[in-house]
Parts: sequence; C-alpha cells; structure tokens
Amino acid sequence: MNRSGDGRTPAMDTAVLEIVRRRTESTRVEIARELGVTAATVTNSVKRLLAAGLLWESGHARSTGGKRATLLRVNDAARRALGCTIDHDRLSMVAVDTTGALQSRVVLPLVDAADPGEVSDSVREGLAALIPDDELGAMTGIGFAMGAHLPDEVDQALRALTAELDVRATRGREGTCAALGSFWSGEQTGTGLSGTVHLGSTTTLALLLDGVPFRPDSGQSLDHLRVDPEGPVCACGRRGCLHLYVAPDGVDELSRTALEATQGSATAQVDVLAAALPLTRVAANLAIALGLDTMVLAGTPVQAAPAIYLEAAQEHFGDESTTRVVVSQVQPHPCAVGAAVLALQAFLDTGGR
Ligand SMILES: [Zn+2]
Repeated sequence: MNRSGDGRTPAMDTAVLEIVRRRTESTRVEIARELGVTAATVTNSVKRLLAAGLLWESGHARSTGGKRATLLRVNDAARRALGCTIDHDRLSMVAVDTTGALQSRVVLPLVDAADPGEVSDSVREGLAALIPDDELGAMTGIGFAMGAHLPDEVDQALRALTAELDVRATRGREGTCAALGSFWSGEQTGTGLSGTVHLGSTTTLALLLDGVPFRPDSGQSLDHLRVDPEGPVCACGRRGCLHLYVAPDGVDELSRTALEATQGSATAQVDVLAAALPLTRVAANLAIALGLDTMVLAGTPVQAAPAIYLEAAQEHFGDESTTRVVVSQVQPHPCAVGAAVLALQAFLDTGGR
C-alpha cells in the first residue's frame, strides 16, 4: 500500500487499529477524538488500513441528525501472527489473528532448551502444526519471547531458520511479552499504567501505559533487588537478593511444587506461600511507588497455584489499595501470546506489508 512522506504514518495506523480493536466498532470521529488528532489524519490512516484489508466498514452508526457515520471493524480474518516462547522443558507456540485473539496453539516438550538443533527443529514442527505451508506467505511474522536462559547459539539458530523460511521475525524480552499477552487477552483494563511481575528465567517488571510498553526494553530484572541485608549470600556477592526467596530452587521446581499444592499437598502449599509472600510484598511496594492501576502476577508457578498468590497478594496490597491485582491465566503461555502481538505490531509498523 502507499505510504505518505510522513514517517510517523505507520505509528498512526497502529494507533487507529488498536482503538478499533479495543472498542470492537468505531467511527472515524470517535477515533479522532480519542487520539486527539484531526479527522483528516484519521481518514487518511483508515484509507490505508482499508486498502491493506486490515479494517472493514461494518455498517452505519445511528443517526445523530446529520449524515450517518460509517462504523469500522478490524478484519480479524486478514492475517495471522505467531508467537513463541521457550522454557527449559517446553516450547509454546500460538497463532493470533489481527485483533490479537488466540486462534490455535501447540506445546512441544524439549529435552534441552540450550540445544540450538533441538529448538529449531521444534520451531519448525510448531510452524507446520499451526500454519499450512502454502499460507506461510499470508503470515505477518513470528515473535520470539527471549528468556535470559537462552544461549546466543539458540538465537542464531532461530535467525537462520526464519531467514531460510523467509518469515519476518521479531524479538522481545520475556517480561514485556508476558505483559503484552496479559493485556491483549483482556486481563487488564484498556487504559492506565499497569505493571506485570513475571516469574520466568528471571523475575521481571514490565510496565505498560495504555497497553503500550513504557520503554522498548521494558522488562527489567528484579532478581538482585535486595530484600534482606542479613539474608543468604547471592552469587552476585551481596546478601538477600529477591530471587533467593521467590524461586529458591528455580522456577521449574517451583512450578512443580505449585502443581502439587493445587493437588492438595499441605507441605507444597506452605512452600509456595513462603515463595509468594516476598514476591507479592515487592509487587505491592512497586504498585505504591509507581501508582499502578493494575498489577499483574504472571509465570508458570503463579498460573499453577493462582489462589495461593492471590492470598499472598491480599496480605500486602490490603483492602485500601487502589491497585487491581490480577493473576494472569493466559493459556498456554502469556509470553507466547505477547510475542505474537509484537510480531503483529512489527508488521503494522512497516505499513502492513
Ligand atoms: Zn544477587
């Protein structure tokens, strides 16, 4: 499609599409009002999005006296974006449509997530399961949520694979992807400042303002936040770092314990609550310091034992807290959905080509 000389055009198109997606149906006037731009700017952007098949005209708004305004909707059948996240023991891949709605998913077991050959074979297998060969070209691209545990060799193997398949690849930090996956799955309200604390290969905080990452590299590690100067010595040389408390034996072990806890094991319940309390204390402090509207707790242990993490959150957020606490339940993996959203946004940012 044609692009005007204005370098900010794709960003405007993304913003317009995002508003229509959020409101389900919208008129050009409503979009202009919400974005605070002129009707002509919106009209030009809508023209491009209609031409690219990303929006369609779905009817007319009720008459308010004058000419009836045309209603716009996102064309959800237009394109698919894929998202992929690689945990220590499994690879999760999802396909979302243009609205970010989950279409299909696949989870494949991994023996060794650090083995570039095994990871790229699994990505190939996941692609084949989700997108037929002849439709690869109609795909907007694939997003990868990159955890800190993945060696460079895995990243290089993924770059080689996507180059070979001629598929556009986007990368995002694990924590940012978890936040985006939660937002696009409707777990957070549409506007305001939200924080997502994600228990993954590291514990991260990612901030979204009105659903958009606060910084491109949002998703800072909280692992070495000092919670107890008298605590055990960390590998970093200091004492009492957060990760020693929130996942003392690693996040995979904690996920297993969380599953046992929901299956009724009393000792597992005690262990998970002991890990959930320091995490939610830090989350509550961050929520106060940053004035968060929403705080999302995410990650496989949290997802496995949501009631325990909510109970721990209640302890620290208290009844007067104005922050809404959400335990993310995006299946199969918030990071995979968020990575697909990144791929979709990267496609829109280039003008939908
Ligand atoms: Zn440390």
